[in-house]
Amino acid sequence: MLKCKDVSQRASEYLDGADRPLKWQMRLHLAMCSNCRRFVRHLALTRDLASKVGDVESCSQSQSRKIVQKLRNKS
Ligand SMILES: [Zn+2]
Repeated sequence: MLKCKDVSQRASEYLDGADRPLKWQMRLHLAMCSNCRRFVRHLALTRDLASKVGDVESCSQSQSRKIVQKLRNKS
């Protein structure tokens, strides 16, 4: 059984598409632990945003900072 610490350490791996045993263990933990659910959701959002900001060259530093700020306020 994974602990919260394991989940936070392996969340990136999980989002990248982990192997089956880890995926199931993560899902099982996330089903029971709202803290880790929130953590993984935020990590996914942040990664998604980072990839978008990287794609959009016209997006200025201040614009991307605003987006990050908005995301932070949501939590
Ligand atoms: Zn947890």
